[in-house]
Amino acid sequence: MDHFSHKDGVLHVEDVSVEAIAEAVGTPVYIYSRATLERHAQVFRDAVAPAGRTHVAYAVKANPNLAVLKVLAGQGYGADVVSGGEMARALAAGMAPGDIVFSGVGKTRDELTAGLDAGIGQFNLELEEEGRVLGALATARGQRAPATLRVNPDVDAGTHAKISTGRAENKFGVAIDQAPAMFDRLAKEPGLNLRGVAVHIGSQLADLAPLERAFERVGQLVAQLRAAGHAISHVDLGGGLGVPYRPGETLPEPAAFGAMVAHVTAGWDVTLMFEPGRVIAGNAGVLLTRVVWVKPSSGHPYVIVDAAMNDLARPALYDAYHDFVAVRPTGERLIANIAGPVCESGDTFAMGREIDAMASGDLAVFRTAGAYGATMASTYNSRAKVPEVLVDGARFAVVSERVTPQAILAAERIPEWL
Ligand SMILES: *Cc1c(COP(=O)(O)O)cnc(C)c1O
Repeated sequence: MDHFSHKDGVLHVEDVSVEAIAEAVGTPVYIYSRATLERHAQVFRDAVAPAGRTHVAYAVKANPNLAVLKVLAGQGYGADVVSGGEMARALAAGMAPGDIVFSGVGKTRDELTAGLDAGIGQFNLELEEEGRVLGALATARGQRAPATLRVNPDVDAGTHAKISTGRAENKFGVAIDQAPAMFDRLAKEPGLNLRGVAVHIGSQLADLAPLERAFERVGQLVAQLRAAGHAISHVDLGGGLGVPYRPGETLPEPAAFGAMVAHVTAGWDVTLMFEPGRVIAGNAGVLLTRVVWVKPSSGHPYVIVDAAMNDLARPALYDAYHDFVAVRPTGERLIANIAGPVCESGDTFAMGREIDAMASGDLAVFRTAGAYGATMASTYNSRAKVPEVLVDGARFAVVSERVTPQAILAAERIPEWL
């Protein structure tokens, strides 16, 4: 459920007309709904609660906006971060250091040090050498770093190859069959409190079966590690739950995921950790855009909008589908291609799709753009960096300003010898 609906013929986010936002902020602009974010946070937390002791760390990379993080901190969420920059954001949003998990396959020594200095709650190790380096850094500071070993269970998540992370050939985690011996060696590091294992097999999962297989393998590993004398108190089950992007599409509900988790993990006696990203933020945001032209072509007409692949990269990156809806639908329909102004044919959001009829100057939104949207934006083609707005009931605020091409130009230099 979300809070994006037409009232008196005009699309609203909660109680704010998106026309008012277009007027005040211009387009393109991302718009998030606080009520939707909070609802998703509650639904997920309630869904996993029956599994016992749980800790939910929102995957910051899905939508790292400071105001979004503040909303989720208010829901008791911690953060799963994959860079020093994301860690700084989570701390700036008021998340407790102890509620932050540091993931990522390429954490630098500087980032590990920053994590130790901040006293973050857990490091998810991706390779043995990282564990030894973290242990040494912690020892030198008189600390013991809480850590898990991320394992790669070699299951096919059945999702897009570019967001699949749990196959043996992927760069993430250590092979699950090598984990017990590696765990034995790393557990001897005096600077590490190696307390569990972590897994994350991919994103936009449309089926619970691969997750269930991965969790079962992790359960066997936990039993094996305990039999070898290790104290296992934490298991991090990652993120990955998908959201519906197409009208009528149905995906596993968080409640079904929670029931599966409770079933598979019964008797594990650990704190279960979760790292949801997309399922929290995806349906809580839209990208508002204005039609620049409707351009005839030899096939369907091209609806050229003022948002482009630099603002919303998912269609160009993953062939992703984003529903496209008029702000003031007339009831008339049109079969069209939808494209942005960037000089690449990949800057195309849809081909031959039936949409609301559009004319130049009309406003429309790409739906389900709250996750992996603004965070992937670039300034390609010397376009502005897209702004973000948060709606709360009848009020709204710009939570990330448009960075103009002039401001970006001002950071560039011509060397004096040129
Ligand atoms: C990206 C990522 C997540 C979040 O994935 P979603 O599909 O957005 O839930 C969680 N954990 C790790 C380690 C990730 O890399």
